Amino acid sequence: MKLILCTTDAPSGDQTGHQMAYATTNPATGKVEKTFETLSDAALGAILDETVCCFREDWPHRPIAERAAILKRAAKIIRDEQQSIAEIMTRDMGKLIAQAIGELQLSAAILDYYADTAANFLAPKAPPGALAATLHAQPLGALLAVEPWNFPFFQLARVAGPQLMVGNVIVAKHASNVPQSALAFEDVLRRAGVPAGAYADIFATTDQVGTIIDDPRIRGVTLTGSEKAGATVAERAARSLKKSVLELGGSDPMIVLEDAPFDTTVLNAMVGRMNNTGQSCVATKRMIVVGEERGRQFLEAMTAAMASLTPGDPLDASTTLGPVSSEGALQGLLKQVEAAHTGGATVALGGERIDRPGSYLQATILTDITPDNPVYRQELFGPVLSFYVVPDEAAAIALANDVPFGLGGSVFTADLERGKRVALAIESGMAFVNSPTWSTPQMPFGGVKNSGYGRELSQLGFGEFVNWKLLAVSPAGSPPPGAETAG
Ligand code: NAP
Repeated sequence: MKLILCTTDAPSGDQTGHQMAYATTNPATGKVEKTFETLSDAALGAILDETVCCFREDWPHRPIAERAAILKRAAKIIRDEQQSIAEIMTRDMGKLIAQAIGELQLSAAILDYYADTAANFLAPKAPPGALAATLHAQPLGALLAVEPWNFPFFQLARVAGPQLMVGNVIVAKHASNVPQSALAFEDVLRRAGVPAGAYADIFATTDQVGTIIDDPRIRGVTLTGSEKAGATVAERAARSLKKSVLELGGSDPMIVLEDAPFDTTVLNAMVGRMNNTGQSCVATKRMIVVGEERGRQFLEAMTAAMASLTPGDPLDASTTLGPVSSEGALQGLLKQVEAAHTGGATVALGGERIDRPGSYLQATILTDITPDNPVYRQELFGPVLSFYVVPDEAAAIALANDVPFGLGGSVFTADLERGKRVALAIESGMAFVNSPTWSTPQMPFGGVKNSGYGRELSQLGFGEFVNWKLLAVSPAGSPPPGAETAG
């Protein structure tokens, strides 16, 4: 193995290279605002060296309280500068400015929460019944985090908060369409006191991501993104026996039972489907209403609510329908809607590009989607609601589970016990009663089936890259184990 001398002065700001793949293309205007070159292999190697040195000699050896104070400073910077950071995120990927600010507040809360709880999470534990044995939390080392554009700060915070408190160090490859958000997050951590070797953002190519995964300096990989990217990265990690965590796509059902209160259920469905212009892995992608008459009423109400959204500049606080993240994303959604229609679905609302600059899709509702329709089992990652009416609870559960995904799901009802029973019957990593799937710093996040494996956030996510090392201590002069039964 290569000997690394821990005196490297890594050119972490020197992102010199060959490719201009990272760019802010404002989806509200279609204009390319800024481009960035990808890293040279030499610069990337130096960053990995610095990361390993930081792990070996610095970051995990600092007292938990010192790491916590740094993360709390980062949370404060995010809150103090939320308006300017939110504008960067909105320019990168088009989210409504108020939702960008909400995301930053959640990101700051995540950093605070893990700073506050780490000492407790990391305290040694005694395995029940095992006398004189304890488990000690040790960090694994340098992790690669591959992240998507849809929540540009939250996705990074939910890796960095817990993992930096564990004592791991992170190399982060953010999506190529949110480079300024990626730099802003790194800048916040740096100003708070996180050393360059403990968190480094890299503008890496897909090929370089593969090379980084193979590199013995990297000890684990976490990816949030599509099934395709997840499978590629997990396969590569498995080849060198590295642990991976995958947070992938979803097609969350929202089951509306006969007794669900009408108005609040519509409000929840709107937030569940339209938050982040529908570009959330846990968005309410399929609304499943029990009962013909209620189905008709809910469709009417959802059509009116979605039709009332006002497209406009996402930086303008009065806009309620922003662009989708890119022209490519818009074209993909238009193709899915067209294929749904050709396959027999009814486009009950919208379905077309909005005639204005930028990548805007009308708020869209699809009905009459049969199991042979291509969109029946696909994820619709944008402002498109699939609307179903079923005769009873059993049919609702069967439909909810008839997709390859298993991320989140929700049930709306006045009967909480029934709601819990139905929610537990949804094949998913998360299920909510009377709320769309949501994320807080305290709750674990993750799925089953093609939505991935492993968890982020909570004690579960915190522990994904921890070596819970067994320490068993016997008194000096003890006989060898098994001696008393060895005959
Ligand atoms: P994506 O194409 O998979 O991109 C996600 C990240 O993976 C980006 O950084 C991307 O880099 C990188 N990437 C793509 N292909 C790769 C490969 N072959 N090898 C290594 N890295 C690769 O995902 P997306 O379509 O932008 O994001 C939307 C998807 O993410 C949806 O399916 C959504 O549901 C899912 N998602 C899941 C969660 C969750 O927590 N479960 C949260 C948010 C989003 P480039 O940008 O450079 O291509």
